[in-house]
Amino acid sequence: MSTSTVKADAGHQSMFEAVLARLDVAAKIMNLSEEVAQVLRSPSKEVKVSLPITMDDGKIRVFEGYRTIHSTHLGPSKGGIRYAMDVNSDEVMALAAWMSFKCAVANLPYGGAKGGIKCDPRSMSVGELERLTRSYAKSMKDVFGVNKDIPAPDMGTSGREMAWIVDEFNKIIGEDSPGVITGKPVSIGGSLGRDAATGRGVMVNTLAALKKMGLNKNEVTAIVQGFGNVGSHAARLLSEQGIKIVGIGDHTASFYNEKGIDISAAIDFAAKNNRVLKGFKGATEIQADQLLISKCDVLVPAALQNVINEENAPKIQAKLIVEGANGPTTPEADPIINEKKIVCVPDILANSGGVTVSYFEWVQNKAGYYWTEDEVNTKHDIKMDIAFESVWNNSIQFKTSMRIAAYITALQKLEQGVKLKGAF
Ligand code: GLU
Repeated sequence: MSTSTVKADAGHQSMFEAVLARLDVAAKIMNLSEEVAQVLRSPSKEVKVSLPITMDDGKIRVFEGYRTIHSTHLGPSKGGIRYAMDVNSDEVMALAAWMSFKCAVANLPYGGAKGGIKCDPRSMSVGELERLTRSYAKSMKDVFGVNKDIPAPDMGTSGREMAWIVDEFNKIIGEDSPGVITGKPVSIGGSLGRDAATGRGVMVNTLAALKKMGLNKNEVTAIVQGFGNVGSHAARLLSEQGIKIVGIGDHTASFYNEKGIDISAAIDFAAKNNRVLKGFKGATEIQADQLLISKCDVLVPAALQNVINEENAPKIQAKLIVEGANGPTTPEADPIINEKKIVCVPDILANSGGVTVSYFEWVQNKAGYYWTEDEVNTKHDIKMDIAFESVWNNSIQFKTSMRIAAYITALQKLEQGVKLKGAF
């Protein structure tokens, strides 16, 4: 595949090109073999399907569905399914590649994949979403498999969609196969701790970074952008650790309170308010573009991609950025952040807690034996600390940023996988 096939819409940089830009920097520093780099520059399989759905008004609407497998060198491919209006083949390809790197960094026996449907789930009824999800599952029946390709939730999807997919898949293969998908509700084979896992990973990575930086967690403040599955759990867990959360925000409103925000109150408010923060009274409402550049020690972008860019990066006041979202920082913002000596724990490490507990869910499904939440959390924290340490050490050894060090850590493992499996 040439990079010309991944050009983005006018005005936006291709996300996959952003992945390749970082891959190339890391490859050069670590001296990655060009053949291996070439293998990893192209996804191994891209599937695009057209999904005609009868809407509640009786009309047919056709949706685009995607699943891209980036790599399978370290094991079956793993990665979520995203429902959003900006889903397109370039974005899915980038997210799939990030899953390869994320799983490698976290020492999981997986390759990387991502799927998605271009739709606006907030504007669809439950019935429409169920028909769309089941239709997607049917059309991906030859792609998904417990030892082949294992999806999970991502933006716009949750345990509910995972339950529909596993049900559809089970009907097709004629047996119960819970391990074909992770992020399921606990009652049908999901894992305790999975829901909060990505936020937990953000918390563990934040604590590890603060320690290395010589900062006391009880004396730092944090801003968390995004209040969905990742952001709300991250904010809660960070505040439980004694970190003062001074800013929060979602797609409806942003808030700042230098005295600290009561995160339990914000979570309760959102739960009763259609899952959004608009109208929250526990802090002063501020402009959305002010949130990332307001005063804090730790900044956690846990919503969308490309939110930290050339324009706002120079104004960021945080000493530490922990990327809860996938791709929140553009490649153009990287050198600005590095120059300002801001430590940035990159997405492929910072948000790998989710897929780590997905792995535990898959292991439990395969064994048919289920762990307590404490067991899951303890195992998660150990894995996360090991991953953090290896990236930190690589950043020292190769004298580079945590982001490039994370790519190097991943590429070291992927290089082994590609070579040992004999791609040539
Ligand atoms: N969608 C999540 C991510 O981007 C989780 C993927 C998984 O659990 O497979 O990491």
